[in-house]
Amino acid sequence: MKLLTGVMRGGAHSDPTPARRTARVVEVLRPHPGLTVVRLIADEPLLFRPGQYVETQIPQVPRQWRPLSLAMPPNTQGQLEFHIRAVPGGYLSSTVHGETRRGDVWQFGQVHGLLRPDGDRPLTMIAGGTGLAPMKSILLAMAMSGDNPDVHLLVGARSPGLLYDSQSLAPLAATNPWLKVTQVTDARRDPWWLKRPATAYRACHCGTAHWWTPCRISISPAAGS
Ligand SMILES: Cc1cc2nc3c(=O)[nH]c(=O)nc-3n(C[C@H](O)[C@H](O)[C@H](O)COP(=O)(O)OP(=O)(O)OC[C@H]3O[C@@H](n4cnc5c(N)ncnc54)[C@H](O)[C@@H]3O)c2cc1C
Repeated sequence: MKLLTGVMRGGAHSDPTPARRTARVVEVLRPHPGLTVVRLIADEPLLFRPGQYVETQIPQVPRQWRPLSLAMPPNTQGQLEFHIRAVPGGYLSSTVHGETRRGDVWQFGQVHGLLRPDGDRPLTMIAGGTGLAPMKSILLAMAMSGDNPDVHLLVGARSPGLLYDSQSLAPLAATNPWLKVTQVTDARRDPWWLKRPATAYRACHCGTAHWWTPCRISISPAAGS
């Protein structure tokens, strides 16, 4: 696998559009207590490539810009999606989690980033938490093309209840034979505050990064196993 990682901030790879675009919130989902998924419709389509991120301002926190990864590829309907993890005490993320509503108008500045698949060799994508967002954008874009390398997406979370978006990933994997999705969790059981029944998981070791090891792995419905 080879991925080109984009410039994080202020890089030379900004898009040529005017500095500001606006979009209206049309749907707010809170799949678990630490995550908000926000869907918007842009007034004018935003120019970006799958895997990129955009400087974002919300109406409740004026003059504060935060980079957020776009979770959908560009489309003519102007549909945008963001996955936002609530950082305790964080200005933007905790406000999104507590206050974002349908009808809010978000502003967007410049788009950055060079995260993208490289070549036509088999690809492994590893997404922890909201790291799924740019991967989802890339995969949805790939699904529009008939000719793709095999892709294995590993989606990681600390416990089963913190995995999210299976409802998008499962049909994507089911309809695209080149894609396999595996969900991986650190713990077998959810913390008490998630209040979800525990699921049976096979244990395995995968990698050496601190929060991946040891981990437990399940083959999700999306993987077709
Ligand atoms: C390229 C890029 C893409 C990003 N994409 C996303 C995305 O798709 N979804 C998403 O939820 N976030 C994403 N982020 C992070 C996002 O930009 C904000 O940093 C994050 O939402 C916290 O902002 P805040 O205003 O809530 O926190 P702040 O008010 O800025 O910070 C409050 C405190 O939290 C700490 N903090 C800030 N961020 C984190 C963090 N991520 N983890 C732990 N502590 C933190 C700060 O150091 C500070 O002490 C991305 C960041 C970058 C650089």
